[in-house]
Amino acid sequence: MNTAQIIALVVLLVVIVAAVVVFAVSRRRPAVETPAVPAVEAPWAAPAEAPAEVPVVEEVQAVAAVAEAPEAPASRMVRLRRRLAGSQNGLARALAGLLSSDRLDADVWDDFETTLIAADLGVGPTTELVEALRTTLGVEGIADPVAAKEVLRRELVALVDPGLDRSLRLEHESGTPAVVMMVGVNGTGKTTTVGKLARLLVAEDHRVLLGAADTFRAAAVEQLTTWGERVGVPTVGGAEGADPASVAYQAVERAIGDGMDVVLVDTAGRLHTKVGLMDELGKIRRVVEKQAPVTEVLLVIDATTGQNGLAQARVFADAVDVTGLVLTKLDGSAKGGIVVAVQRELGVPVKLVGLGEGADDLAPFDAEQFVAGLLGE
Ligand code: GDP
Repeated sequence: MNTAQIIALVVLLVVIVAAVVVFAVSRRRPAVETPAVPAVEAPWAAPAEAPAEVPVVEEVQAVAAVAEAPEAPASRMVRLRRRLAGSQNGLARALAGLLSSDRLDADVWDDFETTLIAADLGVGPTTELVEALRTTLGVEGIADPVAAKEVLRRELVALVDPGLDRSLRLEHESGTPAVVMMVGVNGTGKTTTVGKLARLLVAEDHRVLLGAADTFRAAAVEQLTTWGERVGVPTVGGAEGADPASVAYQAVERAIGDGMDVVLVDTAGRLHTKVGLMDELGKIRRVVEKQAPVTEVLLVIDATTGQNGLAQARVFADAVDVTGLVLTKLDGSAKGGIVVAVQRELGVPVKLVGLGEGADDLAPFDAEQFVAGLLGE
């Protein structure tokens, strides 16, 4: 064989090997990629109450499967506990300071009271806690720090109220889904919470559909659709400026058609006027309820906004019948006392807490775990 023949033979061998590799790889690939499903136009008629000129609603089909298993709900609250315990939380610091005081004199109680108020606990709950502790720790003279901590735990748990029903209301008739409306001021974390909650519910084997009825903010529908894809659930959304009630109606209609268990409806959080807000949220509810009852109205509150956030939340609570609270950004707040304050103010239990921006950063609220975190455990 001459040199030219050897080179030709080597080239031939390389081509054959490359062809075999390409063939083998191409046979393995289909399991990884899911073909994108094109957006489909919804053929539904607008509900009676919606204006005739409602822009066409786009229906976006989820294409992604849930990437990895969601974190179990119980360990999420443990994460919050750790974060509270390790943080610069004012309430936790005040409690630690009280427990480490040698003598419980008037100055110690004054400092304690001031720190509790600064930690957003609210004046009423602060007075109650200080009075209860003064009686038990001061008058009864509990000097043992372990016993004192147990007294603190008992009083704090009582303030957070472990007796409240914090379960999400998802009961529904067969054939119609449970409907959860998410309301609150823009920027509090509504859309993010809808996405995280969908993931939590999917992990519990619920069949979930998202309704993107925040048609006021152009990016909101896209943001929710991205969450839907991430979580592996479909999203029904309206074009910018579409009637939110119509979008919500169509989301529920689609959910009924597809045999879904839960529809999570994201709403716009414009704080224009109380009457405007009442009209908008009231209309969404009425229109949805032509097909299925709204089982839960969750008010989302940003824990870092303190008294201001509380005042805004009150406007929403007046406008719509809120059944549960979601306290977001508790990871970024140094003031855990807001949990007690919002429950007292609004007379509704905190059901969920946001612990960060990640998909698993939402936990069902648990009074004992929360207090354990504040006590540095
Ligand atoms: P919306 O306008 O109420 O729908 O608010 P978004 O869902 O768009 O959230 C506003 C911002 O808050 C986003 O940057 C979110 O990632 C962030 N966010 C939402 N929930 C939490 C939380 O629990 N912790 C933290 N640190 N950020 C959050």
